[in-house]
Amino acid sequence: MSARKPYVGGNWKMNLNGRQAVELASELAGGFAASDQVQATVFPPFPYLDKVGQALAANNSPIQLGAQDFYHQPNGAYTGEVSLAMLKDVGASVVLVGHSERRHVIGETDTLLNDKTLAALEAGLEVILCIGEKIEQRQTDKTDHINTGQLGYGLAGVSDAQMARVTIAYEPVWAIGTGKTATPQDAQNTHQIIRRALGFLYNDNIANAVRIQYGGSCKPSNAAELFAQPDIDGGLIGGAALKPEDFLAILQAAADTAPVPA
Ligand code: PEP
Repeated sequence: MSARKPYVGGNWKMNLNGRQAVELASELAGGFAASDQVQATVFPPFPYLDKVGQALAANNSPIQLGAQDFYHQPNGAYTGEVSLAMLKDVGASVVLVGHSERRHVIGETDTLLNDKTLAALEAGLEVILCIGEKIEQRQTDKTDHINTGQLGYGLAGVSDAQMARVTIAYEPVWAIGTGKTATPQDAQNTHQIIRRALGFLYNDNIANAVRIQYGGSCKPSNAAELFAQPDIDGGLIGGAALKPEDFLAILQAAADTAPVPA
């Protein structure tokens, strides 16, 4: 068990309508109170950020509001894009960067993802930087190379002080939305490599302080075993984040691994 506070994010992706988003937020707000033990953030689709933020606030919820994406330029002729200032304006305090669907479906590059990481940190937001290998990379023994590469590119230019607002999400692409989960031992091995890489990029103190979430078909039935691993500090949850009872059970599994206050 580590001294790091577990962190669970719920990535709603391109799901739900406005009424369902508010209902989900209200149910989560009503069921989650363990904010001294677990940090929790939900990432609704852009059009519902404002109303989800209001639903969380109306219930005095400690659950943070996060955005799935943004553009790194401050304003201007970027049709379809959303700026960090706009996200802050509706109460978002966390952003995802480099989710596998942005890397591999939308085609975002390491250079763009680094620009986004730097801009979000400069704007004062928290960042969850997602990394992870594809199945063919795993099968050809490139898992560590891919993850440490995405980590190094994504964090280029991020200062020691800014690392206090960075969380890493290790999400093997082959496990996202597929029902296939890395075994706790396989996930732990990769998390340990990622933490060691943070030590090389920064120092041992920073490597030991940064939370590394696991993501990829995490659900109530496997969360406890994953979160019990020494280098797994909670999870980034997709499908199971859309069901309040499942997401609350995952939050509880994270709370059960939280460090006991001295
Ligand atoms: C994700 O989208 O970050 C994710 C982990 O999805 P799922 O839990 O559905 O695999």
